[in-house]
Amino acid sequence: MCFRPASAGGGVQCPKCGYMNDANATECKMCHTTAEEMQKMSASMAGGAPGMPPMPAAPGAPGAPGAPGMPPAPGAPGAPGAPGTK
Ligand SMILES: [Zn+2]
Repeated sequence: MCFRPASAGGGVQCPKCGYMNDANATECKMCHTTAEEMQKMSASMAGGAPGMPPMPAAPGAPGAPGAPGMPPAPGAPGAPGAPGTK
């Protein structure tokens, strides 16, 4: 093994600064974010990072026809009044 991939398994990347910490690190060595906070951030990011767009649109492009994230589903349009459902 002379080659070690950047994303070696077992490491924990800080969602705040991107620093790759040891798997058993209790806090980020770079920005001192605790492991607990990192988990919370990762969880929130997985759910659609509020207030922190993962990929900013190209600058200077007003109304870029890109993916506007995931639109909130206003009530799942399931079966519209299935008759006789009990
Ligand atoms: Zn960090």
